[in-house]
This record gives sequence, C-alpha cells and structure tokens, in this order.
Amino acid sequence: MMELLKSLVPCVEGHLKNLRATCENRQCHNTQLMRSIPGSRPGIRVGTAWYCCIDCFAMAACVPLERLSSLKVVEIPRHPRLSLGLFLLSKGHLTAEQLRIATAESQCLDEDVEQTLVKLCMVSEKQLAAARSAQWGYPVLAAEYVGQMVEIDIPKAILNACRAVPLHYSVTAKRILLGFSARVEHSFIELIEEMTRCRVEPCFITPTDFEEQMERLAMPPDYEEVVVDDPGSPEKMARTVGRTAIQVAAREASFAQWRDFVLVRVAGKRGRADVVFHMLRNTDVETGQQSGIFKEAIAV
Ligand SMILES: [Zn+2]
Repeated sequence: MMELLKSLVPCVEGHLKNLRATCENRQCHNTQLMRSIPGSRPGIRVGTAWYCCIDCFAMAACVPLERLSSLKVVEIPRHPRLSLGLFLLSKGHLTAEQLRIATAESQCLDEDVEQTLVKLCMVSEKQLAAARSAQWGYPVLAAEYVGQMVEIDIPKAILNACRAVPLHYSVTAKRILLGFSARVEHSFIELIEEMTRCRVEPCFITPTDFEEQMERLAMPPDYEEVVVDDPGSPEKMARTVGRTAIQVAAREASFAQWRDFVLVRVAGKRGRADVVFHMLRNTDVETGQQSGIFKEAIAV
C-alpha cells in the first residue's frame, strides 16, 4: 500500500521527506505519519535531536540524566600566585603576628584563614575583596553597579552554591557582570555563558554585597526555577522534567551539570523553566568542579 502511495505521489513524498524530522526516541509509539507530518506537532529540540512529543522527550531524557547524575566530580585545584594572608601582609593591612595568630586559629577551627581574619576584625570584608581581586586578577565591583535591581533567568540555587550573583545584565549587549564573593569559578562562568548565551565578566564583591544583591534579584515573569533536593532515580528525574516540560509547553531543552547539580532547561510557548536537581552525591573531600553542557542527541 505504501509502495503504491509512494509511486502515486512522488512529489509530495519527496517534499515531506525534506521537511521530515524523525523522532529520536527509538521506542516512539507514534505512527510514522504522526511522527513525520511537518507542522502538525512542533515537538521538542535537544541540540540537534528532535522528539515528537513530551513523552518521547522524557523517556529519552533518562539517558543524559543518568550519565550526568553519576559523573564523578573531579578536583581541578586552582591556586593563586600569592596567598591571601601574604598579600594582606605585603599591603600592610596585617602584621606578621596577626597573620600567625589568625593562621593558627583557622587551623584549629578548620576554616579558611580569610574567614578567621574577618571574624577577628583583623581585616575588613572590603580589604579582603580587594586582596582577592589582586590575587586573581579580576576587578572589584565598580561603584556604578552597586545596588542595581537585576531581572535574570538564572537559578538562585546555583548562584547560592557558588556565592556569585549578577550585578548587571544587559540584554542588548549580551553581557552579565557577575560578582563572586569567595573565588572566581571558571566552570561556573562557562555554565552561565552557555545557559544565557551572554558574555560573563567576573568581579569580586564582599559577602555582604552578595547577600544584599541576592535580595535585589528578580526572576522574569515567564520563568520558573524548580529545585529538586531529592531527585531519585534517573527515571523519576525524567518524569519531573516531563511535568515541567508540559507546564511550559516545551519546544526546546538542554542539559547541563555543575558541581553536584544537574540542570535541565526547558523553554516553550507558555514560558521557561530550569529544573535544578541537587544530587547530594558522595564526593571526595578534596572536591572541585568539572562541568559540561551536554546537548547531544539523547536517543534511547
Ligand atoms: Zn516520538
């Protein structure tokens, strides 16, 4: 029968073939006709892959979710040229005796020496931010960006985890000024650049600046952040993603991983959402970051 149809309508068939997107889910239950009529179902794109419906997308999503949630977090330590204590000492913000006391105290309490220095009022947060700036070679927050309201679609859960916050966001210039209060994490910059398609410019801010700016952060009205602290199996995660995809009438999706977070961004007719899975995986004590954005086909 198909053969007959083909021979009868070769032009139409050829035309359909050109426009045809085939569902990447190999277990797709939709008929060939439903899967291939262009325009009848917009489907969901994940990188170069296309899924005919949310069911197929969610089924296929198990594969990247399983892989991303089991990725080993590998430490890539980055040490600045000069230790913060020695830098503060060289600038005269600190005496050798103060540094010795603070170092001993920090070792006792098993905390960072900079934390101890601020706690003991030996240096101010601002001096510390300036020292970090010199240490890492990034500027401190410029005065004109202090106190700006920022509306942006980045999950607060990951901003909090990195202690980083957008201070300025220009949609036209496609640029985000991102303030880090502890250290500049390149894996995080890469993640935000990939998610937003904007250029990220890092700078240093104080922990107080960070807390205050987080309060000024607003989310666009068509955007939602869905945080899942107990993600469960990849299948359960995929169902969560599927529900969010239905909510936004998803047309596009992408997967990413950073530290112990697995992120799925979905966008569609009714809005956009980030599903943020907090994996609570067991990592080695000396953990660091290795992140990646994964947008390849997720065929089952
Ligand atoms: Zn399908």
